[in-house]
Amino acid sequence: MRTPTPQGATRCGDCDRMWTGTAQAHCALCHRHFSSVSGFDLHLTLDGCREPWLVVRKCRAPRFKVVEHKYGPTWVQSVHEPPCTYCEVA
Ligand SMILES: [Zn+2]
Ligand SMILES: [Zn+2]
Ligand SMILES: [Zn+2]
Repeated sequence: MRTPTPQGATRCGDCDRMWTGTAQAHCALCHRHFSSVSGFDLHLTLDGCREPWLVVRKCRAPRFKVVEHKYGPTWVQSVHEPPCTYCEVA
């Protein structure tokens, strides 16, 4: 039996992941969940979805970290610390 979707929450019809807030982004292809649309955009390539843990900066520091949220794991863009001059040269 399905648990009812809490008020104000959104549920993915395929993987049953729920979330609240319009800022978050759920991928309908790989069903990973991102804390922001910009994070969602980062994992998406012309060839499809990338594994978030394979998305790295120029210096190969990871761009995402996963946090356990009430409704399941959420991929959050990690702060680049310590800052790296290599990456800042765009
Ligand atoms: Zn995806
Ligand atoms: Zn889903
Ligand atoms: Zn760097």
